[in-house]
Amino acid sequence: MAVLLPLAVVVALAVQGTRAQLKAAWADAREEAERLAPVLAEGLAKDLQSQMISIPTYADPPLPGTPSELDAILDGDDITALETVRDNPQAGLSPAGLPRRALAALRIHSLDRSRQTKEALTALLIRETPSALTNTALKRLLAWETDQAAWREAEEIRALSKRVRDPEGEWIRGDRGDRISFIEIEGESLNHVAVTASPLAAVEHSRGLPRWAFSHVYIGESRWPVLAAAPLDLGKGMMLGISPYGYGSQLEAPIRRQQRWTFAMLGAVVIAAAVALCSIHRTLRRERKLNEMKSQFVASVSHELRAPVASIRLMADALEAGKVAPETAREFHRLIAREGARLSTLVGNVLDHARIEQGRRIWKMEACDLAALVADTVRVMEPLAQEKRITLVPVLSPVEAGVDSGAIQQALVNLLDNAIKFSPVGSATEVSLAIDGERRTWDIRVKDQGPGIPKDEHARIFERFYRPGDELRRETQGTGIGLGLVKAIAEAHGGAVLLESEPGKGSTFILRIPVSS
Ligand code: ADP
Repeated sequence: MAVLLPLAVVVALAVQGTRAQLKAAWADAREEAERLAPVLAEGLAKDLQSQMISIPTYADPPLPGTPSELDAILDGDDITALETVRDNPQAGLSPAGLPRRALAALRIHSLDRSRQTKEALTALLIRETPSALTNTALKRLLAWETDQAAWREAEEIRALSKRVRDPEGEWIRGDRGDRISFIEIEGESLNHVAVTASPLAAVEHSRGLPRWAFSHVYIGESRWPVLAAAPLDLGKGMMLGISPYGYGSQLEAPIRRQQRWTFAMLGAVVIAAAVALCSIHRTLRRERKLNEMKSQFVASVSHELRAPVASIRLMADALEAGKVAPETAREFHRLIAREGARLSTLVGNVLDHARIEQGRRIWKMEACDLAALVADTVRVMEPLAQEKRITLVPVLSPVEAGVDSGAIQQALVNLLDNAIKFSPVGSATEVSLAIDGERRTWDIRVKDQGPGIPKDEHARIFERFYRPGDELRRETQGTGIGLGLVKAIAEAHGGAVLLESEPGKGSTFILRIPVSS
């Protein structure tokens, strides 16, 4: 959860930042477009002028020869009437010498360009007698068709020109909306250019810019990439709102800036997600390890409790039965006392560990003779040491300090217990108390001749439940909370617990307490 929140913030910032960049880029583009609009208007107008087509004027629609009743039908739009002429074998030739049936089929096809009309026209042309449809006649027939088309287009433009109010020309939006015509009247002649614009044809809107931002305008055959932004006023006429994308390379800069920003933000999001995932993974792994250590702790504590309780019960039963020799009875009493002390240390450790964990441990700091306290503790541990023929060598002189004497004793018991537990039979453990004048601390040192601890475990052995090391050390009784407790006690006094040790050279634990405490 703690990881997801910053991730969400980064994503929100990225989105916000990208939007802000986009806005800024767009504002820049618009400004640039407005600046370029007049320049473009001029360029565009010139381009248009060069493409002007002069529309020929026709006094009358071009008709083949002198009109007759049938020829009038040929010029009309009535498809049924035209079909009657086409299907009439008696239709004969037009005054210009062209078969009327073919003219009618051609006319039908030009009005309705469907496949059937084309097939009907082809069939008819094939059926016509060669004498009636000579090469020359065919050419004239086609020229007539071309003239008809040109005339019709001119008529269309002329109809548009009726809407031109200004004699110098005007832009007219085509009926279909995608074609824009510019018509210019020069004396009697009519000039015209068609511009096909597709400002709404979005080609690049996936970049997140408005749909109409990127588009193209076709002027004749040439394709103009545009970035629509500012309305263009081409003199008298009204034109599209465009400015050239290709014209101002400056326009690309804000867009590139926005892209860079987006990529940078995406990168940040990816990195943040990776960091978050790593951290979640680490937390989960630590949790799993802690759970494993806890289960191990429960198993060790149960074992540590069961063994002394069982031996106390056995010895007490034997004593009660009264069948034990006086010598053995004395030994049993001593062992019962020792196992009892071990149990009470263990229970004390577990309870204190829980209290410290929950922040319920109350420290009672009061003046006491630290040397006497250490000496008393050494005396308490003496019987345990004797069993392994370990000599405890106290090096002390009386000092007064303000400490929680119970806690300090508990810490020292744990250090001595470990020293005795891990040291070989017949070795010596030195316990000293000295003032470090420079640091102004009391240093209680417990120096044993045990197996020593490798450097990479120095920090970890103070973690709760952690019991590392070789088989010998792991097989030795213990729960893994002793050193954690020592550390907590030292820290509650504003001090620390230090370790000087390496494998094969014994260990020295230093309980360091500031003089002021
Ligand atoms: P426990 O002794 O119950 O296992 P501790 O927290 O007191 O738990 O000690 C943690 C570990 O540190 C021990 O399991 C042991 O591996 C190592 N250790 C502690 N004291 C000594 C020592 N004097 N010599 C060697 N190893 C030690």
